[in-house]
Amino acid sequence: MTTKFSSRVLSLALLLTVGAAAAAPYDIPANVQAVAKAQITAGSLEAPIRFLASDALEGRGPATRGDTLARLYLAAELQSLGYLPGGEKGGWEQTVDVVGTTAQLPAVWSFTGKTGNVDLKWSDDYIASSGVQSPTAAIENAGVVFVGYGIEAPEYKWDDFKGVDVKGKVLVMLNNDPDWDPKLFAGNTRLYYGRWTYKYESAARHGAAGVIIVHTTPSAGYPWQVVQSSWGGEQFDLPAESEPRIQLKGWATEAAARRLVKAGGKDLDKLIAAAKSRSFKPVPLALKTSIKFDNKISRVRTANVAGLLPGSDPKLKDEVVIYSAHHDHFGIGDPDSTGDNIYNGAEDNASGCAQLLAIARAMAALPERPRRSVLLLFVAGEEQGLLGSTYYSLHPTFAPGKIAANINYDGGNFRGRARDITYIGHGKSSLDRIVDALAAKQRRVVVPDQFPDKGYFYRSDQFNFAKIGAPAMYFGRSTDYVGKPADWGRTQEEEWTEHIYHQPSDEITSEWVFDGMIEDASIGFYAGWLIAQADAMPTWNPGDEFEAARKKALAQ
Ligand SMILES: [Zn+2]
Repeated sequence: MTTKFSSRVLSLALLLTVGAAAAAPYDIPANVQAVAKAQITAGSLEAPIRFLASDALEGRGPATRGDTLARLYLAAELQSLGYLPGGEKGGWEQTVDVVGTTAQLPAVWSFTGKTGNVDLKWSDDYIASSGVQSPTAAIENAGVVFVGYGIEAPEYKWDDFKGVDVKGKVLVMLNNDPDWDPKLFAGNTRLYYGRWTYKYESAARHGAAGVIIVHTTPSAGYPWQVVQSSWGGEQFDLPAESEPRIQLKGWATEAAARRLVKAGGKDLDKLIAAAKSRSFKPVPLALKTSIKFDNKISRVRTANVAGLLPGSDPKLKDEVVIYSAHHDHFGIGDPDSTGDNIYNGAEDNASGCAQLLAIARAMAALPERPRRSVLLLFVAGEEQGLLGSTYYSLHPTFAPGKIAANINYDGGNFRGRARDITYIGHGKSSLDRIVDALAAKQRRVVVPDQFPDKGYFYRSDQFNFAKIGAPAMYFGRSTDYVGKPADWGRTQEEEWTEHIYHQPSDEITSEWVFDGMIEDASIGFYAGWLIAQADAMPTWNPGDEFEAARKKALAQ
């Protein structure tokens, strides 16, 4: 009887344990929590920021001495923590070549139409940069076709091209993606289909010669002046490989596009209305155009830095959790009103690098190595257009189908503990459940992207991992701070964006506090640990824009 009784108690206890484990699958064991507490500290976060953001590093501009020093420092830290070189040819680095192109576009770009000629004036009417890295770019006597949004999205049964041959043509496209129906392209959330990079890539895939994106402030999310200032000067890119390229990447104001379309025998409002339908077909405009311009080309070299912690599971160690943070900033540039000309980039992104190093420390200090491998990747050239992460995604050190997830840090919380955490990319993948559970343990609320129309998910390095199919997470800034008035966070953020962001004053000060950053780095550490330990890799939510890329990666 005793035996019977105790075995019954035992099975009941077992049942309860199993039940509890199933109800809370994201529990972090006490010994893992203890490691986080010991390793992710104010000191382990502050020290790398002090070094990387010091004037001695001269703002870490790509291919400068500061860039070299930052890379040496990151590799040295990884080595001292026991990581293996995770770069190319057994080294700590992966070389990233950067090509700068300054296009000398003509003061007037002319089109010959049915009802006379149309001239677009540089800067007032059109802005463009070169799509090719050759000394001259040219489009000769090309036809012009309106292609709606220029989107092909099988998951939404949307195809603006309908098989029409647009080879050698100049394509006029609408900005953004369809945003009037919550069931189409996630409503007013801007998906990748709504970004200008997608539009130019889409045109290149179809062999087009050039693109003119019609700018409106609501569809771009920013005024025409931003287009003028960001596209007018030198543009940076990776060296051209075998991918298709267009000659010219252009923008036009809505007024200029209206004149152009009219001269081509059509009405812009009617074309826009037609484009809002699945049955839209490309509309040729009765226009011809030629344009030729010279490019000034510069080439520099920088590198990603990578350290690898091999997984402990003989099978799962072929799969990897990748942490990323960009190490570059703007270097030395125009002085501000105080005469300071060093763009230290303390928050952007010495603070992200510091969080990665603290996580690296914790991973290395675990009593048992995680089952999957962990790669710490410090990427180059983010400020020039996500170049280091783009290069990594084109030349990954793990096959894309083996990348379990990417956790990216771009910026850090230096304002103290917060009740919320902004998670950019919420609603896209199974990573949501992990972040939600971990935030709840810190008594915090997960807030989705506060500006879904601005497309922040596509504006830092995690996007390049999503593009090759790996589910990715990226934390934005908190807004609700413990012990502060309700609107304090937002006011601070607005002031910071205006006076410090991307300016020489982005420096570490005595006002910085680290308890909030400790929590954010800990969430990332725990999330990576959970992903590395789980039997299955994370998945995109069904129907997500990146699900097809994942399927393709897993099939390879
Ligand atoms: Zn950044």
